[in-house]
Amino acid sequence: MNKKRLLIVIIFLIFTVAALYYLYSLKTDANGSKDKIEVIVSVGPQMEFVKAVGGDKVEVTLMVPPGADPHTYEPLPDQLNHVSNAQMYVEVGTPIEFELNYMDKLKKMNPNMLVVNSSSGVDLIPNTAENENNSDPHVWVSPKNAKIMVENIYQGLVQIDPNNTGYYTTNRNNYTEQLDELDANITKSLEGKENSQIIVYHPAWAYFCKDYHLQQIPIESGGKEPTSQEIADVIEFARKNDVKVIFIEPQYSPKSAEVIASEINGKVLIIDDLAQNYIENLKNVTETFSNV
Ligand SMILES: [Zn+2]
Repeated sequence: MNKKRLLIVIIFLIFTVAALYYLYSLKTDANGSKDKIEVIVSVGPQMEFVKAVGGDKVEVTLMVPPGADPHTYEPLPDQLNHVSNAQMYVEVGTPIEFELNYMDKLKKMNPNMLVVNSSSGVDLIPNTAENENNSDPHVWVSPKNAKIMVENIYQGLVQIDPNNTGYYTTNRNNYTEQLDELDANITKSLEGKENSQIIVYHPAWAYFCKDYHLQQIPIESGGKEPTSQEIADVIEFARKNDVKVIFIEPQYSPKSAEVIASEINGKVLIIDDLAQNYIENLKNVTETFSNV
């Protein structure tokens, strides 16, 4: 009888120690992630930029999720919670509707949050394709612009966490080198393609086209689905200039692109302007463009 009781006590003790150990490990985990700088970004490519510079010292949250459109997206309540706990917000800083509509509200929710304008210092292209009154918001599609965005992010992280400046400097230098390499490779891959016409559903590629001397022809007009007349105009343009490929970003309906492609006996290819694996994605986009 005594033996049995002793056994019960021993089992009870083992369970207690295991439970305490488990709770303790949870607590250290929570403390560990609290040490990280909470950073919010608006669009996918900024995820890679912040992670590249911030490494394991940052926790990054994306506002406009994969498949969503930064021209129309509305943040969810859970995302707003993230913003109220964040130390830094990296805005695109161009007239992109998500930020035009929500930045003031987000800043008011968390007045202590450092807001970094990642495109500060970028030469903006006056927008004619999407909104005649604003400059083109899609700065990130150019690796040259990405370098400026990364520098702005670096400055922000150093301001928040000056003790780790050396760490951020090394990371920034490494990633900037990769962007330089990407830039050089794109130039090389697109050699001989100067002035090629890129017919694309949504005009997100102006900065890319400017850097590598391509010509962007949008299907969408003023941020809206094209009319049948506009579709007919694009078909005529494609036939006249012998263009056989229609590009579209994954967040848009391929309907009108498919109509045009079938009329010109061409095909529709998907290119993503918002992918989170920035360098890898631009390599793929370049590969796609260079086969036109
Ligand atoms: Zn866009």
